[in-house]
Amino acid sequence: MRTKLGVLGYPLGHTLSPVMHNAALKAMGRDELEYVKIEKDYHELQAAIEEIKRDFIGINVTIPYKEKIMPWVQEVSYEARIAGAINTITIKDGRMIGTNTDGLGYLRSLREKDIQVDGKDILIMGAGGAARGVATALLGAGANRIDVCNRKKNRGKSLMDILSAVGNAKSSWIDFKALMRTDISRYHLIINTTPVGMHPRGSEKLPFPYEELEKHQVLSDLIYRPRLTGFLQEGKDRGLKVVDGLDMLLYQGAESLAIWLGTEPPIDVMRESLLEALRGE
Ligand code: NAP
Repeated sequence: MRTKLGVLGYPLGHTLSPVMHNAALKAMGRDELEYVKIEKDYHELQAAIEEIKRDFIGINVTIPYKEKIMPWVQEVSYEARIAGAINTITIKDGRMIGTNTDGLGYLRSLREKDIQVDGKDILIMGAGGAARGVATALLGAGANRIDVCNRKKNRGKSLMDILSAVGNAKSSWIDFKALMRTDISRYHLIINTTPVGMHPRGSEKLPFPYEELEKHQVLSDLIYRPRLTGFLQEGKDRGLKVVDGLDMLLYQGAESLAIWLGTEPPIDVMRESLLEALRGE
């Protein structure tokens, strides 16, 4: 009988997913199930996938396999296809079915703080896997404009192409080098999807025209370790609403569990387990 859930990635030292999922499984009385780390280097991947198909109900996929896992997956959801990345796989009749809950998880984290995106102009910094999931979800939620600022033009443009293929949002690419000279006043929501400021280099701060920020704007960072990045601290110091990455982590995980188990998991238990794990950091 398949009794495992887990997270596939390499390295996985940092992951909080087992803590959060195991707390939920326990609270749901699903003692027969266990959520484990599947820490595999690329050359071990084929063997790991055989084991996953045999023993697992479902897995999360994280760095560096969100895009690389595609060839092993037999069915890909709309969300994963447009994001070009998979973070959740369900195993059914020996087949791997991939989807992406990052975007939905992010939207739920905004909703938690009463932040509207419908009709709003949004700036996304970074154009990687997480940015794609978030940007396409924001577009689906009715954003008016999504501008993308990153270093590598081809990556930024490829996200622009995805956005224009998915919907009618206005969008433009901003060169990272021009960010300090960019007029940021039009943006309701500004999101950092780069890893700048992430543990253990928490003192690093994204170069950004912080002096131009206004109180009605919202700053969001996908990083959850530390919860208050230098980027968010700048916003907080100026009285802006800020959203860290913890609720996105929570809700993308809750969405995955709901897919695997067919029922909504206990959000409060999951959140408390994350807060407990981060306490003292
Ligand atoms: P990724 O695919 O590697 O993309 C990273 C992006 O950041 C790229 O666009 C890259 O720019 C940019 N970047 C990297 N270093 C930079 C630097 N020093 N200066 C400026 N830009 C830089 O990574 P990802 O999977 O999207 O993850 C990004 C972040 O989101 C990570 O911190 C991750 O932990 C976080 N995340 C959080 C959650 C959550 O649940 N809270 C979920 C997923 C991801 P170029 O395109 O120019 O190379």
